[in-house]
Amino acid sequence: MFDIEFVDVTKVYPDAPPALDQFNLSVVAGELFGLVGPSGCGKTTVLRILSGLEEPTAGRVIVGGRDITTVATHERGFALITQQNQLMGKRTAGGNIRFPLEVGDPANRPTNRQELVDFEASHLRIGHLLDRRPSTLSAGERRIVQLARCIIRSPSTLLMDEPLAFLEDDMRLRLRTDIVRVHRDRGLTTLLATASQSDAMAMSDRIAVMFDGIVHQIGTPFEVYDLPATAQVAAFLGEPGMNVLPASVRVAGGERIVDVLGLELRMWTPVLDDFAGQPILVGVRPEDLVPGGKTTESLEVRVASVEPLGRQTITEARTAHGERIDCILPGIAPPIGTTLDLGVPTSRLHLFDPITQHAVYHPPAT
Ligand code: ATP
Repeated sequence: MFDIEFVDVTKVYPDAPPALDQFNLSVVAGELFGLVGPSGCGKTTVLRILSGLEEPTAGRVIVGGRDITTVATHERGFALITQQNQLMGKRTAGGNIRFPLEVGDPANRPTNRQELVDFEASHLRIGHLLDRRPSTLSAGERRIVQLARCIIRSPSTLLMDEPLAFLEDDMRLRLRTDIVRVHRDRGLTTLLATASQSDAMAMSDRIAVMFDGIVHQIGTPFEVYDLPATAQVAAFLGEPGMNVLPASVRVAGGERIVDVLGLELRMWTPVLDDFAGQPILVGVRPEDLVPGGKTTESLEVRVASVEPLGRQTITEARTAHGERIDCILPGIAPPIGTTLDLGVPTSRLHLFDPITQHAVYHPPAT
């Protein structure tokens, strides 16, 4: 297991903004590290550079203290799983898993190949699929076979690009568990690239949240969710993400007042003094809004759409001026068009600088 480091890595493709822009990252040996961000933010480029399929335009990649920026792919000892079907159609699932043991230097080929295939298959609960051709397997089963094929030669590092994309919920949950188990049991360093913040949060020890080829924040799932470093991170993480609303700050009669959506919110944090008379961004998580207006300040909104989830309902609402507010309401879904009172608890508000987008205040953990 080795530490992995990207040092000021930039990747520029012709006639396009940089796919990675002075990208810095340190992954500790043995971590399951998530790269998360919207489509096009550069996640795949990170994995392709790490696996040697792309060379950076500038910067260095260091693995275990060694500069591997120009080292050939096959000398790196990394396994890369993509969302594409990488299996050979003419071989059975078992034949595909065995394949890496049949190539390369004959002196290094293990003799107990079938035993190794059976071990991986039983570990991943796919023993019953070994005689089947890939075309007869489900997308999820093919991904598990790919995983078995990737780890059979005991790579030091596992790189996974959207391994759970386009899978049904039950298979997605199973693969989440399988990947985490393989990662732990085999003592791998694993990088997982995904546009799904819920997959990244559920599986990763730490996460890098990326936008436009730049890392906005690195932290544990708890840190990036509760203490988002930028307004973009706040709005991206969560289902739905944080409401980030334009507001302004007044100091009147010794009180600091935040004007947002027609409400006058009184907050006591001294950071507001830096924004007196100026705009600010207010962030509030959908789950922190209180239906029924049980707090001092409440906002009248109209229900625009609902997503019932059983015990709770994700609700998109609109203010009288058309601003969108996402909230999570307990119980059954309110009819579309209903008017709701939403309490806005000042104790749960986050504040962001509207110019830099950086967080300037987070509420204390509850
Ligand atoms: P997705 O989740 O959609 O796969 P991503 O976050 O993995 O996206 P990348 O695939 O790394 O993003 O792409 C980053 C940027 O680089 C995008 O703007 C993409 O269009 C561009 N890009 C990637 N590969 C190439 C290429 N071979 N030629 C030109 N531009 C490219």
